[in-house]
Amino acid sequence: MDDDLAIYRDAVVKFVEAEMVPHDAAWRKQQHVGREIWRKAGEFGLLCTDVPAELGGVGGDFRHEAVLYEELARRGLSGFGQGVHSICAHYLVNHGTDDQRRRFLPRMASGELIGAIGMTEPGAGSDLQGLKTRALRDGDSYVINGSKIFITNGYLAGLIALVVKTIPGAGAKGTSILMVETQDLPGFRVGRILDKMGMKSQDTAELFFEDVRVPAANLLGGVEGQGFYQLMGDLPYERALIAVAGVGAMEGALATTIQYVKERKAFGRAIAEFQNTKFKLAELATKTRIARVFVDDCIARIVAGTLDTVTASMAKYWITDMQQEVLDECVQLHGGYGYMNEYLVCRLFADARVQRIYGGTNEIMKELISRSL
Ligand SMILES: Cc1cc2nc3c(=O)[nH]c(=O)nc-3n(C[C@H](O)[C@H](O)[C@H](O)COP(=O)(O)OP(=O)(O)OC[C@H]3O[C@@H](n4cnc5c(N)ncnc54)[C@H](O)[C@@H]3O)c2cc1C
Repeated sequence: MDDDLAIYRDAVVKFVEAEMVPHDAAWRKQQHVGREIWRKAGEFGLLCTDVPAELGGVGGDFRHEAVLYEELARRGLSGFGQGVHSICAHYLVNHGTDDQRRRFLPRMASGELIGAIGMTEPGAGSDLQGLKTRALRDGDSYVINGSKIFITNGYLAGLIALVVKTIPGAGAKGTSILMVETQDLPGFRVGRILDKMGMKSQDTAELFFEDVRVPAANLLGGVEGQGFYQLMGDLPYERALIAVAGVGAMEGALATTIQYVKERKAFGRAIAEFQNTKFKLAELATKTRIARVFVDDCIARIVAGTLDTVTASMAKYWITDMQQEVLDECVQLHGGYGYMNEYLVCRLFADARVQRIYGGTNEIMKELISRSL
């Protein structure tokens, strides 16, 4: 943090409190946040904050991204899929052709084009070698057939970084990423918005492709067979982002729990006065602080360009495991109210569960870490 960033955080908090918090309940009911908030966030300068200005972004760095993730996570605003939007933008920044960056990044920064990442399929999650969606070259186009599942921002997305097989059966070498613009695209269909345990306002969806034609100029980087290499390069960024959100949620839960136990009474005194409560809160605050120190180190490393895959995997796995532990205790300290959706702690708890699953499961993180030992 520095003074400029503190001013930026104040502005972000004001925006989030005014434009998002009042709509959260309605968004959760309709299972998506709608397009208007994306445009407003774009106008306010909250999208693509760490994309260079000459490429159409805001020209800040990952700290600016982190500020927004934290402020959303603290308030349980899990429907606004800005993380995935940013990852999608970073594929373009790091691997896109000049033409692709020019065509997509300014519209992503303005919120006109909402980004998604289409990797997972019904038969291939952790094991991406098993992908089946194929895109075969036909003249100046690729023709896509297949389906994706669990796609964050899937319902609202206007641009999907779609992982496809350009040479079926050729393993990693046959894998590419196509940037798919979805508006009025014949053969493209969004399935239902999936009914999840948590993240109720997030439009996680199934996507279907039937003879969908995409210009060959939308092949990320312009060279076939680079998909796995492109994916691997950007995974530390994605994992750090999940860890940042994890710490934000822990801090938000701790704050609301401290407030709650001071107000709630049992046996003639505040819940906060029981020794068990004091000790639990001390443990939770310590775990949260350790997670904060770790994630701040990751943020600094991203800004310096030195975050490695192993450290990012450690942060993703350890912080999201801690998030689950901390959230569980916070619910317990709320008693029955902690099980009610109208309480922030309940929503944070339900949202937390998937953090250990997406972005590469925590088991896959441990695989990656162990290979370096
Ligand atoms: C809410 C939500 C949002 C998501 N958003 C996106 C998105 O935007 N884009 C996208 O592409 N995907 C997305 N995903 C998909 C997510 O990344 C996958 O669910 C995840 O990678 C796991 O894949 P899977 O579900 O197929 O589980 P599987 O791969 O079938 O795993 C099942 C279990 O087996 C374990 N396992 C698998 N392989 C190994 C191994 N080698 N060693 C030990 N254990 C192993 C796993 O850890 C897990 O516990 C999202 C998922 C959810 C739930």
